Amino acid sequence: MANSWRRERWDSLRLLTPNWQSRLPGLRYDGPDPDGYMTMAEVIEFIEHFAKVSRAPVRTGVNVTSVRPAGDGYHVTTSHGEIHSRTVVIASGACNQPAVPPLREAVPASVEQLTPFGYRDPGQLPDGGVLVVGASATGVQLAAELRRSGRPVTLSVGEHVRLPRTYRGRDVLWWMDASGVWDQRYDEVEDLTRARRLPSPQLVGTPERATLDLNALASAGVELVGRWAAVRDGRALFSGGLRNVFSLSDLKMERLLGTFDEWATAEGHDAEVGPPERFAATRVPESARLQLDLGSGEIAAIVWATGFRPDYRWLDVPVVDAKGRLNHEGGVAGRRGLYALGLPVLRRRRSTFISGIEDDAREVIDHLARYLAVRH
Ligand SMILES: Cc1cc2nc3c(=O)[nH]c(=O)nc-3n(C[C@H](O)[C@H](O)[C@H](O)COP(=O)(O)OP(=O)(O)OC[C@H]3O[C@@H](n4cnc5c(N)ncnc54)[C@H](O)[C@@H]3O)c2cc1C
Repeated sequence: MANSWRRERWDSLRLLTPNWQSRLPGLRYDGPDPDGYMTMAEVIEFIEHFAKVSRAPVRTGVNVTSVRPAGDGYHVTTSHGEIHSRTVVIASGACNQPAVPPLREAVPASVEQLTPFGYRDPGQLPDGGVLVVGASATGVQLAAELRRSGRPVTLSVGEHVRLPRTYRGRDVLWWMDASGVWDQRYDEVEDLTRARRLPSPQLVGTPERATLDLNALASAGVELVGRWAAVRDGRALFSGGLRNVFSLSDLKMERLLGTFDEWATAEGHDAEVGPPERFAATRVPESARLQLDLGSGEIAAIVWATGFRPDYRWLDVPVVDAKGRLNHEGGVAGRRGLYALGLPVLRRRRSTFISGIEDDAREVIDHLARYLAVRH
């Protein structure tokens, strides 16, 4: 229980969603700091508390090693015995392994390589410069922490989602929630595959509610370079065109903030929040480096913050595509009696977050109950 929060996260991590948004079915945050952001210890406590109050028959420390079709259901093999079940809900998460590009194989052995699963704190890295690859939530947070530890940090930036921490005096995720952006359903999203693969927003949960965008990182002394495209003769080659990448994410942010403004006016909320804000464009470095010699000693370590992927190696049912993703329609998998929960944009945009599980679970379990009622 809470295994991923316990074992697969770094020490300083806090949720990027405010406490009041940490909702599980029948459980709301009722502590003293609804606008704060939970530490990992608090997340673990919250989930353990949920297990107690929901009185679900949780079995901890049990690893599922195989699920395969058998008779009118599934045969499940675990580290603690066998189970036969008519239905199975796969809730094994979307982030079981780090997704690291094959570029890693061309990195000289003198450079240490880490993923967010292995990273705990800056003290663990060898002295010297760090190249952080990926500028979504994980990458910007680790780049900031490593820079604060006094190291030279280079951040390789590809497509990213820029957001201010607060907008018109409210947490930006309050706007996502209240304006209904997060309620958009999976069957209304224009490009669902893209929505499901959207990088996490550049956000961090700190008591100061600070914005952690590329301007903040550049001001802190982080060097920005383009997307890492190749390794040639021991040199990392970065794409040019940072200006385009930056202006695209600035534009998308402006559009989103415009949507919030329209909603506030249409629904009569203008008086409750601050005036509309606009933010400075992302500053393009005067001359971003296009290559970096990985053998020169300048870079002692690389942190791959290039995303995560699920692990379905234990699932012996042909419902996983060539890219390792589960085929499902709003959580109803491609084989009868098989369901999924906890995946990005499973049934609505908020499915990607902890607060998304409640509505999704209700609908998916309704389907499951109807299936059992008809069949059995
Ligand atoms: C770095 C990071 C930061 C995040 N920050 C936030 C945030 O601030 N706010 C927010 O709302 N959401 C956040 N999320 C998303 C959030 O993690 C998910 O929405 C949520 O965890 C989904 O819950 P889950 O129980 O479905 O999956 P998970 O929390 O991933 O849990 C899945 C569990 O299944 C277990 N499991 C997997 N395979 C097996 C197997 N074969 N046998 C037995 N057990 C297995 C895993 O060990 C794990 O304990 C973050 C995700 C990551 C990766």
